[in-house]
Amino acid sequence: MSDRHYDVIIIGTGAGGGTMAHALAPTGARILVLERGGRVPREAENWSPEAVWRRLRYRAVEEWLDADGQPFTPYTHYGVGGNTKFWGSVLYRLRREDFGVLEHADGVSPAWPIDYETLAPYYDRAEAMYEVHGAVGDDPTEPPHGPYPFPPVPHASGMAAIVERLRGFGLHPSHLPLGVRRPGEPGGCVLCGTCNSFPCRIGAKSDAEVCGVDPAVAHANVTLRTGALVRRLLTDPAGRRVVAVEVEEGGRVERIEAATIVASCGAINSAALLLRSATDKHPHGLANSSGLVGRNYMAHLATMMQGFQPWRVNRDVFQKTVAINDFYLSGPDSKYPLGQIQSQGRTHATMAKGVGDAWRWGPIRWKILPLWMYEMWVARAVDWLAMTEDLPRPENRVTIAPDGRVRLEYRPNNVVAHKKLVAETRRLLERLGYWSPEVFAHSAGAKNTTHQCGTIVFGRDPRTSVLDPFCRAHDVENLFVVDASFFPSSAAVNPGLTIAAQALRVADHIADKGLR
Ligand SMILES: Cc1cc2nc3c(=O)[nH]c(=O)nc-3n(C[C@H](O)[C@H](O)[C@H](O)COP(=O)(O)OP(=O)(O)OC[C@H]3O[C@@H](n4cnc5c(N)ncnc54)[C@H](O)[C@@H]3O)c2cc1C
Repeated sequence: MSDRHYDVIIIGTGAGGGTMAHALAPTGARILVLERGGRVPREAENWSPEAVWRRLRYRAVEEWLDADGQPFTPYTHYGVGGNTKFWGSVLYRLRREDFGVLEHADGVSPAWPIDYETLAPYYDRAEAMYEVHGAVGDDPTEPPHGPYPFPPVPHASGMAAIVERLRGFGLHPSHLPLGVRRPGEPGGCVLCGTCNSFPCRIGAKSDAEVCGVDPAVAHANVTLRTGALVRRLLTDPAGRRVVAVEVEEGGRVERIEAATIVASCGAINSAALLLRSATDKHPHGLANSSGLVGRNYMAHLATMMQGFQPWRVNRDVFQKTVAINDFYLSGPDSKYPLGQIQSQGRTHATMAKGVGDAWRWGPIRWKILPLWMYEMWVARAVDWLAMTEDLPRPENRVTIAPDGRVRLEYRPNNVVAHKKLVAETRRLLERLGYWSPEVFAHSAGAKNTTHQCGTIVFGRDPRTSVLDPFCRAHDVENLFVVDASFFPSSAAVNPGLTIAAQALRVADHIADKGLR
């Protein structure tokens, strides 16, 4: 076989593509992994809030358009490992109820074509692969689950005290399931304050490069090409099969063939790739007979919050260990789901100033406040995230603008439920003795792309879904889409582990059918 023909081409190396590569590598099939970005270098800037948050050193250098046609820089990253290099590594299973129809205040969260029990064995494997540390028993929403492969990361002393107080309020705080490698051990995770949104300088965060791509490319049959942007998928004359991908690498465009194609570009870019691959046989985009490619984009409603105590310095370095799921399925004054509350990594002064600089008080811009004031602030704060499910809406969608740029139309929904969750979080922080201002909402319209999902939905009916339950396109027999695109609903927990679990399931399916 030449380097122009492979058994499998995987496009993208994030939670979907990196996991696929890892799972298919032992089959011996000739696999080409194409990644538009490069390797994130291990360097001092990895842990520099200034580099990561002010200079946006690792962000995608690209402009997308919002619903009003205004350009913005998306919060996304291109490189080996995709967005998992920057994730907080909170690796949750969806709740069992998330797989069924769930009534929300603002509409219905639709059922998945598979149930929890179908995905459970793959969740087990994904947790082992991504070295998830957690504990069963405390979380009232935990689906049936054997022991985690690794014990939970212990709470730092301040968080341990908060957990006890929360229990005293009658709540059920639980350990966040975390993908970190050998925490506290020599050569392992040092439990530092730069995890969420920072790449790990010592490779001790479980991301798709470290846990997926690197072990995959150790197999002689797997080739990784970086700086390789897939522009289009090319089909046979009947439009039933993808015969090749068109790749742009170092200014050169070439065509590479494969028997099986796996698109894992992330929910927005996979939709863009299919839309850009329109032909006479697929006039509205490849695999788009349903008209759903790009539609039903979801991204979670998420609000970062800080409890502040002027007289008490927060000495916890790694505080991202606590979840409160008591309001996941209903709220104190709501029969509808509100979502999840998680403790977060420490906010750095540079991050807080970045947000504060944009605030106004009448004619006064908060930009006048110096960094040291934010340092005083964040040193006395404890950080939380309130996260609510948003619902699939066809008008929230990815399209391609006439000039070729991605256009993302997104108007948040289920906002009342989210406001209730934020109010509940504030009430809890106040009971704990904090002031609880809401520091910033990163569900700010179209710019919140971190938890993007839902643009190429899976299901049984080709009229109401693009992919079958194994993520194969209904319209194109050798095309699989394995990334956050397939989600019929966003649930209210972090998406990464579910993407990885489904990737393992799809990999088994592809391997069973034969790859050559
Ligand atoms: C700051 C941050 C924190 C997060 N925290 C968490 C968390 O704690 N827990 C959690 O579960 N999730 C978290 N997430 C979300 C999580 O990272 C994503 O859900 C997950 O990475 C999505 O996986 P994916 O495979 O769909 O896409 P990605 O991980 O985005 O991977 C897509 C890959 O495809 C490549 N690509 C795109 N287009 C092309 C093309 N045309 N040709 C070639 N390559 C292409 C990209 O460069 C990228 O490598 C976080 C995200 C961010 C940004």
